[in-house]
Amino acid sequence: MKTNETLAKLHAIDRECNYLEKALAVLRWDQETYLPELGVEDRSEQLALLEGIAHKRLTSPETGRLLGELGSVPENPRGDESLPEPERDFLKVLRRNYDRAVKLPPDFVAAAAKAEGLSQACWVQAKKNNDFAAFLPHLEAMIGISRKRADYWGYKDKPYDGLLDIYEPGMSSDSISAVFGPLGERLSALLGKIAAKPRPDTSFLECGFDTGVQASFNKELMKRLGFDTRRGRLDVSAHPFTTTLGADDVRITTRYLRDNPLSAIFSTIHECGHAFYELAFSAGLRGSCLADGASMGIHESQSRLWENVIGRSRPFWEGFFPLLKSYFPEQLKSVGIDPFYHAVNQARPSLIRVEADEVSYSLHIILRFELEKALFSGSLKAADLPGQWRRRMKEILGVEPETDAEGVLQDVHWSMGSFGYFPSYALGNLYGLQFFRTLKADLPHFEEDAAKGDFSALHSWLADTIYVWGRRLDPPDLLKKVTGQSLSADPFLHYIESKYADIYGI
Ligand code: ZN
Repeated sequence: MKTNETLAKLHAIDRECNYLEKALAVLRWDQETYLPELGVEDRSEQLALLEGIAHKRLTSPETGRLLGELGSVPENPRGDESLPEPERDFLKVLRRNYDRAVKLPPDFVAAAAKAEGLSQACWVQAKKNNDFAAFLPHLEAMIGISRKRADYWGYKDKPYDGLLDIYEPGMSSDSISAVFGPLGERLSALLGKIAAKPRPDTSFLECGFDTGVQASFNKELMKRLGFDTRRGRLDVSAHPFTTTLGADDVRITTRYLRDNPLSAIFSTIHECGHAFYELAFSAGLRGSCLADGASMGIHESQSRLWENVIGRSRPFWEGFFPLLKSYFPEQLKSVGIDPFYHAVNQARPSLIRVEADEVSYSLHIILRFELEKALFSGSLKAADLPGQWRRRMKEILGVEPETDAEGVLQDVHWSMGSFGYFPSYALGNLYGLQFFRTLKADLPHFEEDAAKGDFSALHSWLADTIYVWGRRLDPPDLLKKVTGQSLSADPFLHYIESKYADIYGI
């Protein structure tokens, strides 16, 4: 009886924290989409106040005491063995959140937040002015703060592992290196072979696609993919994202470019993949810290599965190309399915990560992962980053940036101290194809269904095998449960090598 009461109290605290987080998400979503320019100052104050309240609620001594009463301690976060499994998973995640928050001293948190704000503002200018030297002191400060954070949290072997654990619980730099090594070599080789082939003609994409018509198409597309628009909406922002405002309210955004309709289409499909995950956690997880993706990488596996494996497949466009043509009859009048399919799958080495294709994307991540590991092991100094970036970029991708703005300064992550985040993107590609292998064995008619625009069996499969777990399982356990395997690059490499051999006649 006492146990049930203690659990009920912990669930109530967790629910409050969850609702406060969702209120913060509403304010942040609004800031990225509709907030008028001069509203920013007050909005920052509102966010800071609410963040403080949420932090206080989570880290109250009561939370620690209740966790302890159920046997959940740092060495045994899942608590008493007599508790039901879902409750033990709940304790594990709540204990993790609680420990992360209480282990950081309040003055460290305040100083870090201030330094991150200054660093990000400096990065914006440094990128604009191509001035790495101006950003360097901030970058050094961010590395120092991240190392200190890892020290407070604790780690097994390397400080960098402590940072990776925020985004990919259960993964380590060694386990990731073991798969990224062969992945990098084979992708570099594939990219080299593609670069030697003639480029497909994609000039038809640049003939003016009205952005209002694009918006109508993308709204239709998201509905046909299975997005219930009573439970979310599509808006416009500078950088596409997905955010969850409630169990039945998930917002996605995209952006429209007049001379490249594919940009909006694929970011819409990508964000739909995130949204489907967020909208389908089992009823029992509602309003809890378990109603979340297993990790950043597992979340990316969902968005990338929809965007690339499904959205860039031939059966998918056999179904959707006639619809796209009906929206843009003039622009696509003389374009057949073959050139269009080649255009959505063109690959070539490039400098900018966010514009990279399916083949080269993971190579951009491998570069960043190597550099982060070297920065945190002490074998690379921040001051030497630009040179090392250019050298490794040339070796891995075969191209070299002329400026730091399109090299080491291109991404926002390091300016915010988000070290350890990048690997999740490439892990998402690997997890996605590992899941897809099981999915195809379970759903042999998957491709015929995709060509008909029927994704119902796919949605059910994802819900029953992946979404149902929410955050209960860490990535290695979820992979094992769904695929019977541990992390492997083989399914992804097999998929990408055979797909591109076919497209480019290699
Ligand atoms: Zn994503």
